[in-house]
This record gives sequence, structure tokens and C-alpha cells, in this order.
Amino acid sequence: MLKEFDILVIGGGPGGYVAAIRAAQLGFNVACCESNPYADPKGEPRLGGTCLNVGCIPSKALLHTSHLYEEAAHAFAGQGIEISAPKINVQKMLARKNGIVDQLTGGIKALFRKNKVAFLAGHGAFVGKTANGWKLAVGKEEVEAKAVIIATGSSARHLPNVPVDNKIVCDNVGALDMDAVPKKLAIIGAGVIGLEMGSVWRRLGSEVTILEALPDFLPFADADVAKEALKIFTKQGLSIQTGVQVNEVKVGKKSVAISYADKDGKAARIEADRLIVSVGRVPNTEGLNADAVGLKLNARGQIEVDAHCKTNLPGVWAIGDVVRGPMLAHKAMEEGVQVAERIAGQAGHVNLDAISGVIYTSPEIAWVGKNERELKAAGIAYKTGKAPFLANGRALGIGAAEGFVKILADAATDRVLGVHIIGSGASDLIAEAVVALEFAGASEDLARICHAHPTLSEALHEAALACDKRALHC
Ligand code: FAD
Ligand code: NAD
Repeated sequence: MLKEFDILVIGGGPGGYVAAIRAAQLGFNVACCESNPYADPKGEPRLGGTCLNVGCIPSKALLHTSHLYEEAAHAFAGQGIEISAPKINVQKMLARKNGIVDQLTGGIKALFRKNKVAFLAGHGAFVGKTANGWKLAVGKEEVEAKAVIIATGSSARHLPNVPVDNKIVCDNVGALDMDAVPKKLAIIGAGVIGLEMGSVWRRLGSEVTILEALPDFLPFADADVAKEALKIFTKQGLSIQTGVQVNEVKVGKKSVAISYADKDGKAARIEADRLIVSVGRVPNTEGLNADAVGLKLNARGQIEVDAHCKTNLPGVWAIGDVVRGPMLAHKAMEEGVQVAERIAGQAGHVNLDAISGVIYTSPEIAWVGKNERELKAAGIAYKTGKAPFLANGRALGIGAAEGFVKILADAATDRVLGVHIIGSGASDLIAEAVVALEFAGASEDLARICHAHPTLSEALHEAALACDKRALHC
């Protein structure tokens, strides 16, 4: 029998599951289908998408464990804590990470039950238009929905002639599940995954080499932050080579050899026990039957949407990694809320100019708004306020005095245009900057707020004061 819903959400990642819950809260009869290979104890596909299964959450669990290990190995002694050298039990570390994933992915199924969202296990694809909306196939079943939200996410981009087996050559899936610490680890791509996963395995003892094609390190970040990050990561022991061209990857039974040209064009070669390929992600549109129903994609293979995530087809919306904008879980979730509210006739909105980015290395890197390069390119006059964590009592107390906060404010109006942080706790500190941007705040607004002492947030306060050349502690 044909199942009928007001809304069918295709994909149960952060975009899809949030869209489904918000739509159910608004009174719609909603279903969400999911077809990933990660099974829960019932044998059904787990919800949570890339983020919960093989992305944000497992990577942060491993980053935390490896951070503790590194602290115990190298930082405890300096604080008078004397222990014998720590040992890492990789199986236990992975089991803890898997436990967190199980708990959170199972939690979303419970949220679906609570909000009366129907979960449909199976791959969703368009069949055709109906008088009331759309007919879709979900696995072997047929479903009719008045509106469809496509939230099919993205998959790791692979390189031609570099087969990923997730044993020797890994993408994000294998990188999060290595059963031993590789003695030598090579990584292609010094982006977010390369740096986070490189940090995990370096902390646990791997000799890590990262090969990056672009001549500049972290070109999307503020140049000061990128420079500081390269200095710190290199000192930590990550070997980061920019401007390289990978020519050949030869995979053996237990190792892999990478031949490349370095930044001067000189031939070079490294051997490693494992290789992680982290060169970006591609939108998941295959198998949707997009062509047959005329769903428009853009030149990058993403589903084309307007500012409100509406596609070219009536009643069909698309959100998250499968559309333009940063490939981030919080952006996908907000688009899910936006679309559910738009379908309900409300004014859901996402400001793509105020989506913060975070790299969860040590120190962390976080930013929101424009950087200096972008402001210069746009011809906007700006002033800068910078405060180092070295002048922050809390940062010294917790042994994390590296990095700084940098605020860019409009030279004429003082409006905050961008905030860039490298330092411990940057992932949480950036939230205050997002509020300032969303509320069109000025650096003076941040400077006049009384920040708790001693906290890392005082560095943001100092940077705001520094915009007016009246920093008190640096
Ligand atoms: P996805 O999470 O990819 O979910 C899409 C879901 O749709 C998948 O489960 C897929 O199986 C399903 N699907 C696809 N096609 C169909 C179909 N036809 N029928 C049924 N189901 C289908 N972002 C952050 O913000 N913070 C982080 O710290 C962070 N860390 C990351 C670490 C790693 C290693 C990786 C790989 C990514 C990370 N990301 C992070 C990015 C984040 O995971 C994504 O931006 C986010 O998951 C996108 O959500 P989504 O719902 O659009 O897509
Ligand atoms: P990325 O876009 O962050 O970085 C990919 C890097 O690979 C780039 O620097 C690129 O220049 C380089 N590259 C591309 N082709 C190459 C080649 N042939 N040889 C050498 N280098 C090459 O992509 P990623 O690290 O794979 O991560 C994918 C996405 O997942 C990110 O863009 C981000 O949206 C998301 N993510 C977010 C977080 C987070 O929020 N903390 C963490 C992990 C992933």
C-alpha cells in the first residue's frame, strides 16, 4: 500500500533528522528515510549521518583521548604530576568512541519516536510527480509526499588511481578506525580532516607527513592564524609540506609508497604504514533519480537551491552538505529548521555569513565572518584588535598560552566584521563572536561587556578593547 506523508526527508544526518523533528513539531506528518551501511543493534541503518557515524562525533572522541594521552606523556611532569610513561590501548579507545556513536545515533531514533517521525529504512529515490506532490521509492516501498527535503549529505572525494580500502589507504571512515598506531602515517590534504586526524595519530606516536597541493597552508583561514598554526603544528612534530603534486601511490600489503614533486618541483617519495586521503567531499546525488524528474544540479554537482534552500522543483527542498555553503553539521541543522519552518509558511532563515568554522586541533582554531584578505578584496576599511593568550591568567594556569584572538571591525562604524581565534577553547569562545555578528554588534559592545575573571573569554574582551587601542593587559 502506498504510504502517504506531508513531508519525506531523504537522509537522516544532522540536516535531515533535525528537519524531520522540527517539521513534526510544526504538526506535519513526517517520514525520514536512511540507507547507510552502519547498522544499529536491530540491524537497521543508524541515524546521524556522516556527523555522528564517521565524522564530527567520533573524531572529537579520538581527539580527546589522544589529547589526554599527550598531556599525560608530556605535560603532567611540568605540573609536578609524576607518572610512568602512559600506554595507549587502541582497542579500548575505539570501543569508547563506538560507544558514544551508538548512544547518540540510538538517541535520534528515540527522538523520532517521541516526535512521531516515521523512520523508513531504505534508499530514497524520486519516481515522479503526482497531483498532490511526489512519488518516491524507499527501498522496495512506494511513498507519496506533498513536500520532499533532500538531505543526502556528502562522501569523501577519492583520487584517481588511489583505491581506498580503509585498511592501508583510508578516507575518513578508516582514519577513525585504525586498529593500531601506525609507525608512519602519510596524509594527502592539509585541510580540516588531515589536521584533526593527523593530530590524533601524531599524539599517539605516529610520524605524520601531510602533503598539501596548494602553496599556502589553510588559505581559507585568516593569514595570521594560518601562520601561527603552521608554526605550532610543525613544532608539535607534524611535517606539513605545501605546494606538492602527488604523482603516484603504490599500495603494498602492509605499506604504501607515495611519489610526489615537492614545492620546488623536485621528485620525492615517502613510505608509510597507512595513508589517509582527505582531499574534500562530494555531494551525494547519485541514485536520487534526479535527472528523470529534472532536479537541477550546479557545476559542482550540488543541488541548486535559492537562499531558502528551495530547488527548481515545486515542493522539493535541499539542505546541508548536498547544497552550496560550508560542509558543516551546524549549518546543515539550521537549514533543516529553516526549511521545515518555510514549509509551514513561517520565515525560517539562515545567515551563511555568520556560520562559524572550527578546527579541533590543539590549539583549536575558530573563526566567523570575514578575514583580512576578504575585507581587502572587498575594499572595506577595517581596524584590528589582537590579544595574545600569553597575557591571559587562565590560559597560563591551564598550560595553554599559545595563540591569540583577533577582531576585525569596520573602520567607520566599528561593526564587528570577523573574529579569528587560535587557542585553547576557541570552539566555545567563538560563540560570543557569532552573537556579536548576528546582532550587528560593534567592537565597543564586546569591550563594554563584563567578562568573568579568570576566563579565556577575557582574551576576546582584550581584543575588543585593542580595536580602540585601549587594551588593559597587553
Ligand atoms: P550527512 O551527515 O552526510 O547525512 C546524509 C545522510 O543521508 C547519510 O546518512 C546518508 O547515508 C543518507 N543518504 C544519502 N543518500 C540517501 C538516499 N538516497 N536515501 C536514503 N538515505 C540517503 N562538521 C562540523 O560541523 N563539525 C565537525 O567537527 C565536523 N567534523 C567532521 C569530521 C569528519 C571526519 C567528517 C568527514 C566530517 C565532519 N564534519 C564536521 C562535517 C559534517 O559531518 C557534515 O557537514 C554533516 O554531517 C552534514 O550533514 P548532512 O545531514 O547534510 O549530511
Ligand atoms: P578540506 O576541503 O578541508 O581540505 C582538503 C585539502 O586537500 C585542501 O587543502 C586541498 O587543497 C587539498 N587537496 C585537494 N586535492 C589534493 C591533492 N590531489 N593533493 C594534495 N592535496 C589536495 O577537506 P577535508 O579535510 O577532506 O574535509 C572535508 C570537509 O569536511 C571539510 O571541508 C569540512 O567541511 C568538513 N569537516 C569539518 C570539520 C570541522 O568542522 N572541524 C572536521 C572535519 C571535516
